[in-house]
Amino acid sequence: MLKRIVFIALLALPVAAWAFVKPVRVLAPQLAGLTCHGKVCVDDLSRLPEATGLYENAVRYVRDSVGELRAEPRAVFCSTKACSRYFGFTSQNAYTVATVAFVIRDRGWKPYLVRHELIHHLQNEHLGSLRAWLLKPIWFREGMAYSLSQDPRAIAELPFGVRDVVQASGQRAALAASRASVKQPP
Ligand SMILES: [Zn+2]
Repeated sequence: MLKRIVFIALLALPVAAWAFVKPVRVLAPQLAGLTCHGKVCVDDLSRLPEATGLYENAVRYVRDSVGELRAEPRAVFCSTKACSRYFGFTSQNAYTVATVAFVIRDRGWKPYLVRHELIHHLQNEHLGSLRAWLLKPIWFREGMAYSLSQDPRAIAELPFGVRDVVQASGQRAALAASRASVKQPP
């Protein structure tokens, strides 16, 4: 029985490793032909000034309006679909890897999305990546990133999944506020 379990676990291993390998690619984006200047990596060098501008503005905004960053993460900006596929994108526009880096896909070059990922980076720095993901509910993480990034999209325009989360976070915040106001003496 034990042998069988080990055998099945070994069979599953390449699949598990593959699930992690794409975010792991952010550790060495140069291997995929990307160029890094400081913290910013691009696949199309002609767009480096644009990427650097988005990054620096987002860092400034988050430092001034949300909280101090302990370290500035690496930022990978993909200009092409091929680059986005290499970093494992399917439907999302961006993702953050622990306190190491965040990746923006070809259609994700928006100031509020860069701010959104930097807020996730900040959450990971302050809460610890594992604790942030295991113990802090999605409505807390996504609701905070959505509202503090000054995302101009209406809740109805948000991607499916995030929409429910943000809606729920708004309802919870409203509930918490109403409870707090109930407790206050008249
Ligand atoms: Zn998010």
